[in-house]
Amino acid sequence: MIYADNASTTKMSKTAINAMLPYFDNIYGNPSSLYAFGQEAKEALEDCRQRAAACLNCEPREITFTSGGSEADNQAIVSAAKAGAKKGKKHIITTAFEHHAVLHTLKALEKDGFEVTYLDVHSNGIVTPQQVSDAIREDTCLVTIMFANNEIGTIQPIKEIGAVCREKKVLFHTDAVQAAGHIKVDVKEQNIDMLSISAHKFHGPKGTGLLYARKGIVLSNIIHGGAQERSKRAGTENIAGIAGMTAALEEACASIDENYNKMLPLRERLIDGLSKIEYSELNGDRESRLPGNVNFCFEGIEGESLLLLLDDKGICASSGSACTSGSLDPSHVLLAIGRPHEVAHGSLRLTINEEFTEEDIDYIIEAVTDVVTYLRNMSPFWRDLVNGVRPHVFAK
Ligand SMILES: *Cc1c(COP(=O)(O)O)cnc(C)c1O
Repeated sequence: MIYADNASTTKMSKTAINAMLPYFDNIYGNPSSLYAFGQEAKEALEDCRQRAAACLNCEPREITFTSGGSEADNQAIVSAAKAGAKKGKKHIITTAFEHHAVLHTLKALEKDGFEVTYLDVHSNGIVTPQQVSDAIREDTCLVTIMFANNEIGTIQPIKEIGAVCREKKVLFHTDAVQAAGHIKVDVKEQNIDMLSISAHKFHGPKGTGLLYARKGIVLSNIIHGGAQERSKRAGTENIAGIAGMTAALEEACASIDENYNKMLPLRERLIDGLSKIEYSELNGDRESRLPGNVNFCFEGIEGESLLLLLDDKGICASSGSACTSGSLDPSHVLLAIGRPHEVAHGSLRLTINEEFTEEDIDYIIEAVTDVVTYLRNMSPFWRDLVNGVRPHVFAK
């Protein structure tokens, strides 16, 4: 099997698994208890907080452990919104191609009277600091823009956007779930006030993440209850998960350059290979892009059929369209970068990791080329394109 869906989730690293084991077994105490046995777990928790903080270049007390990226996104946004509302500021800026953890949180806030500006994303999948600057108003309480997009892998000019927000004194949150452990993340250097990450996107366990919030920022609870996480996130801490995430984060951050250099030529080989398929195009900028992300649109193809046939050939991949939700809506990300509906339906996301080989890449290129040809030969829609009944969207 070739697992080319690493943006969806990753395999845990051995280091991360081993870091978790003691907390299922010997060190199972509750960190909130007073006896020495619980204190061992408490020490482990604080050790992880300090090490995770070092990876992001922040202070331990600026970190709140969460159940993942979604919870961290929710808490960051709701906290900024509540603080803003107290000062009569109820305007939030984001982009049209955020993850649903951000978009749906904002939709809920809109029902509570917040106004949200969704910045257009350029056709290359990048928003500019100028767009952010132009959109900021007197009543803006938050800018939330993802670090790297989960579908098309484009990397945003986070440091520059952060600088604009600092200058205008508006809080800046970034969903860095796809970035952390893959490209450099440094909250100080990159002018980030709040940031969300999720362990299972960098070879850590599922159900564990963290929220960084610069000191001075008051967080509101999403989960109410006990006094864990400085009373900002109730619930007995997932020590094993936190230990696994911390180990995975340290490991990934220490190998960012090495992994980048391994993956970049493979990504380029994959893009070159798939570009040879006629009437196809890469989605998103080729340069400002995660080293593991390749995302293509093929004219005259249904993404779901493509995925099923690739599965038969042992390739796990993903498509933008939300077939699992029962709707046939194409990806909001591809629509945001201006892909027409009929093309957005025929998308394919392949996300590789540092263990891929040239042989894997060549196998994928061959399989995708065969499957696209096969599906096009059966498609009445494709026949219309060939016969000139419908115009092509892409150049040959
Ligand atoms: C996966 C992902 C999330 C959600 O993280 P979970 O830990 O699965 O809740 C949020 N944002 C982005 C960009 C993601 O890729």
